[in-house]
Amino acid sequence: MEVISYSREIPVRANVDVFVAGGGPAGISAALVAARAGKSVFIAETGACFGGMGTSGLIPVFMQFGDGINFLAGGIGKEIYDKLNDLKGPNHPGGKTSIPAELLKKLYDRLLVESGATISLMTNVVDIVKEGPNVKQIICQAKSGFFAIGAKMVIDGTGDGDIATWAGAPYEKGEPDTGEMMPGTLCSVWADIDFDKFHESQTNVREKLLESFEKGDVFTVNDPHHPGMFRIGKHIAGGNIGHAFGVDSTDEKSLTEHLVYARAHLHEFENFYKKYIPGYENVVLVQSGALMGIRESRRIIGDYILDMDDFIARAIFDDEIGRYAYPVDIHPSKPDPVKYAAFEKEFFKVGRYGKGESYGIPYRCLTPKGLDNVLVAGRCVSTDRKVQGSLRVMPGCYITGQAAGLAAAEAIDKNTTTRGIDVKILQKRLLDIGAFLPNANL
Ligand SMILES: Cc1cc2nc3c(=O)[nH]c(=O)nc-3n(C[C@H](O)[C@H](O)[C@H](O)COP(=O)(O)OP(=O)(O)OC[C@H]3O[C@@H](n4cnc5c(N)ncnc54)[C@H](O)[C@@H]3O)c2cc1C
Repeated sequence: MEVISYSREIPVRANVDVFVAGGGPAGISAALVAARAGKSVFIAETGACFGGMGTSGLIPVFMQFGDGINFLAGGIGKEIYDKLNDLKGPNHPGGKTSIPAELLKKLYDRLLVESGATISLMTNVVDIVKEGPNVKQIICQAKSGFFAIGAKMVIDGTGDGDIATWAGAPYEKGEPDTGEMMPGTLCSVWADIDFDKFHESQTNVREKLLESFEKGDVFTVNDPHHPGMFRIGKHIAGGNIGHAFGVDSTDEKSLTEHLVYARAHLHEFENFYKKYIPGYENVVLVQSGALMGIRESRRIIGDYILDMDDFIARAIFDDEIGRYAYPVDIHPSKPDPVKYAAFEKEFFKVGRYGKGESYGIPYRCLTPKGLDNVLVAGRCVSTDRKVQGSLRVMPGCYITGQAAGLAAAEAIDKNTTTRGIDVKILQKRLLDIGAFLPNANL
């Protein structure tokens, strides 16, 4: 391949305490707590709104915030949950965990602006300048051109661990032996659904799906895994339907190919629902996501890799920054009935906790190996593949995001590195904002 060497001078637009890359649930939480702790914060987001998969990606519902007894995502997760429900109003037809994306976008905007963080949408983080184990500047590219932001602490909330990877942190991606990854999903919004008729009909969507596979009348790919339509309004549903098998979110060629494929194939679901599901006779596709829904890419290796043994043990750690409980949810990498049966067994049996059970998340999962001023948060934190299948959902990302934000603030206050802080003080600060830390022995 032909290569060129390219260099130019660019302005350092600001020097801040904390730079946050990516404005998904993890990045937002990190930015909010760091700014509220009095730090100067710059948060850069590629998209036109904050929220990542939950807004641009149109994910229609939050997974569990609690363990059936305790609200595990206390702190920012609880604040978002409560404030979004205030905006939705009482008796919202989608229930407490549904996500009307426009309301969530507005809420994130408001909270970030009120926090005093500098927010920069439509801003790509494209590179870093490193000195030893520290990232000194972050290179951004936006409509005005290239610019740099200097930062004492850097939080990688890109989902893909872009910054940590560029800075040289080791990572794993997908299944250790084969590299296979969960498929993505281009989520969607659908209108003109008669939910009363649907519920009265007591139709089993899965049985109908298998019936249509038998007939071969609708789908070009017989994918048995169908998370489904989630109600987000009176006659509106959010579709977590269809899989983009083999998509790699760290490669724009792969993303482009799968976005084009997914958009072109959503009409198959429209045909299926219209034909087979009562109440959906007039269903209309309103919108597909502005982001391909990505469940899995890099897992940055940190000082501890939270693994399935920890999950099974309901592990407790001295340095835990939160606890979580969602089952291991690894979508099969191929549309294969055998793989789907294995998924169901794991998701519904092996990986399911009883009430009040949860696993601890050590602070060491947020500290990438070899880096002194970078923390990771969200779906790219240091876990094995199975635990990523649990911790990746949005309430889990609020938990790791707020911990990264407060750890960065604490490191700045003590003029030290991410590893130099006293984790007990971090836990105290987390408790002060409402985190669930029953094992913190302060
Ligand atoms: C199809 C699908 C269905 C899901 N269903 C659910 C569900 O029902 N409930 C649930 O709770 N969770 C669900 N999840 C999981 C959850 O939505 C994600 O794992 C979660 O949003 C991850 O949060 P994050 O902040 O780590 O990353 P993301 O939400 O991916 O956000 C990362 C943000 O960083 C930005 N970004 C990335 N790279 C850069 C860069 N270089 N420069 C600037 N910005 C950048 C992106 O634009 C994005 O906004 C689902 C995920 C998918 C894909």
